[in-house]
Amino acid sequence: MRTNWAGNLTFSAQRVHRPATLDELRRLVAGSDRVKAVGSGHSFNDVADTDGDLVDVRALPAETEIDTAAGTVRVAAGVRYAELAADLHAHGLALPNTASLPHISIAGSVATGTHGSGNGNGGLATSVRALDVVTATGDTVTFSRDQDGERFDGAVVSLGALGVVTHLTLDTVPAFQVRQRVLTGLELADATAHFDAITGAAYSVSLFTDWTAPRFTQVWLKQLDGAPDPELPWARPAEGPVHPVPGMDPAFCTPQDGTPGPWHERLPHFRPQFVPSSGEELQSEYLLPRAHAQAALEALAALGPVIAPVLQICEVRTVAADRQWLSPAHGRDTVALHFTWIKDPAAVRPVLGRIEAALAPLSPRPHWGKLFTVPAERVRAAYPRLADFRALVAVTDPSGTFTNAYLRRLLTD
Ligand SMILES: Cc1cc2nc3c(=O)[nH]c(=O)nc-3n(C[C@H](O)[C@H](O)[C@H](O)COP(=O)(O)OP(=O)(O)OC[C@H]3O[C@@H](n4cnc5c(N)ncnc54)[C@H](O)[C@@H]3O)c2cc1C
Repeated sequence: MRTNWAGNLTFSAQRVHRPATLDELRRLVAGSDRVKAVGSGHSFNDVADTDGDLVDVRALPAETEIDTAAGTVRVAAGVRYAELAADLHAHGLALPNTASLPHISIAGSVATGTHGSGNGNGGLATSVRALDVVTATGDTVTFSRDQDGERFDGAVVSLGALGVVTHLTLDTVPAFQVRQRVLTGLELADATAHFDAITGAAYSVSLFTDWTAPRFTQVWLKQLDGAPDPELPWARPAEGPVHPVPGMDPAFCTPQDGTPGPWHERLPHFRPQFVPSSGEELQSEYLLPRAHAQAALEALAALGPVIAPVLQICEVRTVAADRQWLSPAHGRDTVALHFTWIKDPAAVRPVLGRIEAALAPLSPRPHWGKLFTVPAERVRAAYPRLADFRALVAVTDPSGTFTNAYLRRLLTD
């Protein structure tokens, strides 16, 4: 792997490795002074970059050990959610939520605080129960929710700073069925006046807009089968299947006809066998306290003429608060404002500055794996446990083997 998925970043690594065994990985790490793990490379910035040895973990054995009695799964870091989900479902199990796409690796998604939507749904990292990490000496350290207390809360959303994660143990829930429908024509004024009711109307809700007007063009409702159909008097049913990105084929998306289907065939927007989203894009996302949703959406609407020319689509989701130190939803129920941009970094960058200035009073946290220009000191200030994370990194990786330019910017005053 020489570039990220989007193709906007060429890794500056001197060497790229694909270890096929744990021993090979251990030797490689112990013999290098600069290492960074990469998962499926879906991040848009240099969070996974290194000037040393880049370790693609996807050639490690794709082990998946399901313990139906305990309701857990121990899975290799490089496995993608699509593979894990099919396996879990076959055993009558599920994860509580997914991101918009199942193509991403588990370790990489967890490391950046990746999330789906739902007022009651935490980010994907909240399912993690334990992590096995190969540290700079080549030894494995396990961080466990049951045994490591607070230290565990610091180790899950790690930005790859602690070492190479080889396995994760995840909590599962019994498999469930979901019905998906799409509505259209939701005015911004209705969305802000009834925000909690709309985002709470189904298990997982996403609002989409192109910001050419103060309205949402699509409302995706993913409802648990058996729960009542969401009542949303402010929007009307879409005429047929849609893709969130204008002009893209709806066949790439999960079914929207209201028929019940397995959780992993409804919760992601995009089907695993197709290119997700538009495929030619950049992305950014800012996560704010949900209480600021109205102010944030009105600020974005006011910037509509600046945003719309470089935007493919904007998605608004919610995430439940959690305890993990670097989770973008740490300590606060969250609204997430996502932007799929045209693939033109020079045109997009000044727009990021405008959005970040408008959202600054609302305590935004940028998505760790997407593009942002927020200065490091402001990012640090948004995370009350950042100093604790720094201390955890200093103890776990004293030689700085797993640091990179991204982490130096973030963690160095
Ligand atoms: C089309 C598209 C849609 C997306 N949709 C969503 C969405 O719905 N919600 C959302 O929150 N995000 C979304 N993202 C962002 C994406 O989830 C994150 O960028 C995530 O990090 C991708 O996982 P990855 O395996 O590609 O990580 P990578 O980009 O490969 O790596 C990210 C970080 O994880 C670390 N890492 C990876 N593997 C390991 C390991 N084994 N051990 C230690 N550290 C490791 C890397 O060092 C790096 O710091 C989307 C991205 C794309 C391209």
